[in-house]
Amino acid sequence: MAHRRPFVAGNWKLNLGPREARALAEALAERLTEERSVDMAVFPVSISVPATVMALAGSGIEVGGQDAYAANQGAFTGAVSAPMFREAGCTRILVGHSERRSVFGDSNAIVRTKLEAALAAGLLPILCIGETLDERDAGRAFSVVTEQLQAGLGGLPADQVAAITLAYEPVWAIGTGRTASPAQAQEMHAAIRAWVAANFPAFVAEDLRIQYGGSVKPDNAAELLSQPDIDGALVGGASLDADSFARIVEAAASVHG
Ligand code: PEP
Repeated sequence: MAHRRPFVAGNWKLNLGPREARALAEALAERLTEERSVDMAVFPVSISVPATVMALAGSGIEVGGQDAYAANQGAFTGAVSAPMFREAGCTRILVGHSERRSVFGDSNAIVRTKLEAALAAGLLPILCIGETLDERDAGRAFSVVTEQLQAGLGGLPADQVAAITLAYEPVWAIGTGRTASPAQAQEMHAAIRAWVAANFPAFVAEDLRIQYGGSVKPDNAAELLSQPDIDGALVGGASLDADSFARIVEAAASVHG
């Protein structure tokens, strides 16, 4: 992979109100402030974004939102829009996380509208894709992921695709302690890159970062991240502990350094 800079992101999900988020962010800033070879970002709940942004100022660790609604403003009770995340200091946004898809009913079409709204607001999206266990067992993993790619990226201008990071997260590996084997993950990452290469100019596929997500921990990170098409990690559970997240970042630095 050589030229692609590793990118490790922590999805804090529905955890850590402002006080706890600030404490974790301060611990990360202290531990990782010298880390210059890995892009890093954390995704707190919306209400904890300002405290996290403040605690991470100058640390090199970016802050993102977990989900932005497609409309910028209006009668959408409970929603937060992409320009609002931007105004609060976010640079990135998760789009299409499997929990958004399964718990909140975000279809491929909804994911696309959210992706476009995020790009229009100047946020850098992480587009999450991945198959369920039933889909994998039915031999449909590649077709499901291809459908998600087509719906999410199909027809977008190349410069917009270049602003996106993909996260391949097999749903059966998220929060389950069950990780895709490095070979299983690499196989899918290579297929994703091949799909991008077939649909966009070569440089887009070569530069595109594809994170792996699904029970990434300090003790399995190096092996996953050493696969040629795995360019980083989207980390859930292990990102709630400063030491665990930092050790995953350090694994990315050492594998790609
Ligand atoms: C995630 O939330 O994107 C995730 C991969 O979670 P976990 O690391 O806990 O499996």
